[in-house]
Amino acid sequence: FAPWKDPAARPLIQFQNVTKRFGDFTAIDNLTVDIYEREFFALLGPSGCGKTTLMRMLAGFESATEGYILLDGKDIGSVPPNRRAVNMMFQSYALFPHLTVWDNIAFGLKRDKLPKDQIAARVEEMLRLVQLQKFAKRKPHQISGGQRQRVALARSLAKAPKLLLLDEPLGALDKKLRTDTQFELMEIQEKTGTTFVIVTHDQEEAMTVASRVAVMDHGRMVQVDTPDRIYETPNSVYVADFIGDVNLVEGNATAHHTDGKIEIHWAEGKPPIVGTPMVPIADGTRCTFAIRPEKVHISREHPEGKSNIMQGKIIDIAYLGNISTYHVQIPTGEIFKAQTANTRRIEKRKFTWDDQVWLWWRESAGVVLTE
Ligand code: ATP
Repeated sequence: FAPWKDPAARPLIQFQNVTKRFGDFTAIDNLTVDIYEREFFALLGPSGCGKTTLMRMLAGFESATEGYILLDGKDIGSVPPNRRAVNMMFQSYALFPHLTVWDNIAFGLKRDKLPKDQIAARVEEMLRLVQLQKFAKRKPHQISGGQRQRVALARSLAKAPKLLLLDEPLGALDKKLRTDTQFELMEIQEKTGTTFVIVTHDQEEAMTVASRVAVMDHGRMVQVDTPDRIYETPNSVYVADFIGDVNLVEGNATAHHTDGKIEIHWAEGKPPIVGTPMVPIADGTRCTFAIRPEKVHISREHPEGKSNIMQGKIIDIAYLGNISTYHVQIPTGEIFKAQTANTRRIEKRKFTWDDQVWLWWRESAGVVLTE
């Protein structure tokens, strides 16, 4: 599923040079992006980067200062919220406490004065979708937090919007329930074929549910890509650092061999680090090498014949059950993180504090970035 690669695919949402200012503060900065039908699109970024502002513009609670927002090819700038085929589900769910699950889901349909039998059929369909048929007669306080979340979702989807905006939809759930619910959310999105745009603080959540992730910074989308590409081929230090754990090493670049790789000269008397450039890098410029801890191998013996070899001492260990992360300090003081999978019992016992170890990684394992 990759409509953004299909030149014939029609975007559902188009932001065309959209800027939003509050006074002289720019919350969204000249944004251009397409979101396609059936996409599950995640907005990710630190607090204040403009995620909520973007959602509120899609919902119609805010208007763009400059530029256009199109839905199905039509400018929605002057279309009021209730006339847009867009719905928004809030973290608080905003269920009516005095109404049953059934009546909560039916609420918008009744307000639209649909025929009774149509309302009943649609509510039943929604109850089936979120698997709450048995709870139809209960009030919100008589069901669990996870079930309330599903009622809210059913209610948001009852009027079959083309676009559903989800603002931290799982924020109120505990970690375990949250992970399970992410899969339910994906299933429901797929079944209904509705385009979902989700805002979340949780990068793992964004990576799990989304077909594409937009990493935002100061009102701009720094990178819009599939989760694996965001993780494996970040286009900037900002993205590499924001998503997951990473080792960053700054240095001066020289082009390498004939294979397009870059050598980074990062410390006096040390062999250069080799990495793959993600952006054009000119000889002699300052650049940053980035490598994920799980790409850094750790061994007790000298890794003969390998590349990017370094020796150091383990100064910290984080044991996380399935994986362990080792902080290894090399003699010049820099600390590298190396991660191993604890697939066998012996692996988690292999290394301990103060062990002298060797680190190495493949030449293709790390990327070179400029900012
Ligand atoms: P969070 O993750 O904390 O919710 P966010 O990425 O959703 O943050 P926004 O709520 O979109 O961020 O806010 C972006 C910026 O715009 C913030 O600096 C905020 O203070 C500012 N802002 C938002 N709404 C208004 C407003 N009505 N008036 C003035 N400034 C505003």
